[in-house]
Amino acid sequence: MYIHDVLIVGAGLAGMRAAVAVPKHLNVGIISKVHPVRSHSVAAEGGINAAIREEDSWESHMYDTVKGSDWLGDQDAIEILCKSAPEDIMTLECMGALFSRDPDGQIAQRNFGGLGFPRTCYVADRTGHALVHLLYEQLLKRDAKVYEEWYVTSLIVEEGICCGVVVLNLFTGELSTIRAKSVILATGGYGRVYLISTNGLINTGDGMAMAYQAGVPLQDLEFVQFHPTTLKSTGILITEGARGEGGYLFNSRGERFMEKYAPNAMELASRDVVSRAEYQEIMAGRDIEGCVMLDLRHLGKEKIMEKLPQIWELSLTYAGVDPIEAPIPITPGVHYSMGGIPTNVNCETPMPGLYAAGECACASVHGANRLGGNALMETIVYGRRAGEFAAQYAEEHEIKGISNQHLADEKAKIVAIMDRRDGERIGAIRDEIGTLMAEHFGISRTKARMEAGEEKLAAIRARIPNVYIQDQSKVFNLELVDALQLLSIIDLAEVLAKGATIREESRGAHSRSDFPDRDDENWMKHTLAYKSEEGPRFEYKPVTITKIPPAERKY
Ligand SMILES: Cc1cc2nc3c(=O)[nH]c(=O)nc-3n(C[C@H](O)[C@H](O)[C@H](O)COP(=O)(O)OP(=O)(O)OC[C@H]3O[C@@H](n4cnc5c(N)ncnc54)[C@H](O)[C@@H]3O)c2cc1C
Repeated sequence: MYIHDVLIVGAGLAGMRAAVAVPKHLNVGIISKVHPVRSHSVAAEGGINAAIREEDSWESHMYDTVKGSDWLGDQDAIEILCKSAPEDIMTLECMGALFSRDPDGQIAQRNFGGLGFPRTCYVADRTGHALVHLLYEQLLKRDAKVYEEWYVTSLIVEEGICCGVVVLNLFTGELSTIRAKSVILATGGYGRVYLISTNGLINTGDGMAMAYQAGVPLQDLEFVQFHPTTLKSTGILITEGARGEGGYLFNSRGERFMEKYAPNAMELASRDVVSRAEYQEIMAGRDIEGCVMLDLRHLGKEKIMEKLPQIWELSLTYAGVDPIEAPIPITPGVHYSMGGIPTNVNCETPMPGLYAAGECACASVHGANRLGGNALMETIVYGRRAGEFAAQYAEEHEIKGISNQHLADEKAKIVAIMDRRDGERIGAIRDEIGTLMAEHFGISRTKARMEAGEEKLAAIRARIPNVYIQDQSKVFNLELVDALQLLSIIDLAEVLAKGATIREESRGAHSRSDFPDRDDENWMKHTLAYKSEEGPRFEYKPVTITKIPPAERKY
């Protein structure tokens, strides 16, 4: 039996920032299914946005973010993000973050898509790596209890209040409960609902699924970000920083095609706009083997090696292309989950005692399309706030008693999987889901294609009770973890699919050829999906608009 004041699930940037923000007299536990520094945050490349210059302002950052969100972002949450960002960057700096510098010694900032000012701070093209290691040091200094390589299977809810989790210790195979006065979910995104993604294989959206299974709704899951520059067969990300540093896109005719789609911002329009443009060029046959080209040659060797060393290495290793000598073939790829567990600006979910922050949460600062550099800032600003507010809740509440049933239910679930001797293999089903999601819920969507996708998903859902695993060991049974992750994936795929079919408009990343326009009258609202016997049930909630009235979006 383990007990904490504040318990955090997820040790990426959001989870670790939350842990560090909890006052020292409280007892913090933090759980991660992988070692904390292997969380997906470590892969972040291009940078983190904050208006830290005198010529810039948080108001301008807020305007860009609201416009980027296609007016689906909640402006109260965006205001807090943009206002807090400069101070939070300074806190990281004081902790020892080694941001890249301008020659005059100031923190350097680069251009990113959809920004009216170059406000993306960075550590070359390895920003996530630098920040994850920085916060891991802070976590060790904070002396939190770290449950590394423990897998959380479900939330414990008593009388509608979240009071802990059931967790599988991957070292021993032992299942136990961890109780807490407040629980923060910081479990990251669900990019791996799709087969090919820039995301780590661990990004299966478990925290969102756990919340959903416990009766918390999921918000805006139909908004999936396709990043404009990924390598085709692997989905590996080529940072937006490559275009921020001056990279061009061209098609098979050698045209810088963004001229047609975003004459002012060109390659630095928002991601949904650039990805759609590439998709249209590819569909119109102006592709090169299914790709368009990202050209960095004119930046020169020195700049590439100083600002984009990892991009140089990734394209050489995984595409066989040296970007100093030749353009990189790229395509749009699944990258980010705009939706998630709904929270208010204090990171409170609709369930008392349960908080959420980072990519698994939907505050919603990204609305229908996230701007590059804003996700990392969200993990830091809202991770910190989640720690602060969950700590306050823990100070005001007692630890609750829990029934033995929670552990018994999860044990039964695992025994049922372990005891099945034949049936379907997990990998095959997971690949089928991932492939169909890309085919039916990709960059351009239509009713007919999505409904066909929903039917396929329903057929797969019916096969899931037949999955079996061969590994019967207790120690590091990763096949069992795969089976549990599959349960997250299928729930999230269904919510995403249904939400996308119902939303009859095009907004941000959700683009429908049968409803090509944004429809503010009927659809300027958030989707909330609740779990029910018949599949997801939908309700809606208004968008918070405080300062910036809806307008047409042009780049
Ligand atoms: C390749 C790549 C590059 C990116 N570059 C940028 C960038 O330059 N700028 C930017 O702003 N954004 C970027 N992003 C997005 C950004 O990095 C992420 O949104 C952000 O880091 C997510 O942080 P997080 O703390 O919410 O989750 P993560 O870092 O994904 O961490 C999730 C944590 O939850 C744990 N977890 C999950 N499920 C369970 C479970 N069942 N039991 C126990 N633990 C669990 C994991 O072990 C992990 O510790 C990038 C994303 C990718 C994929």
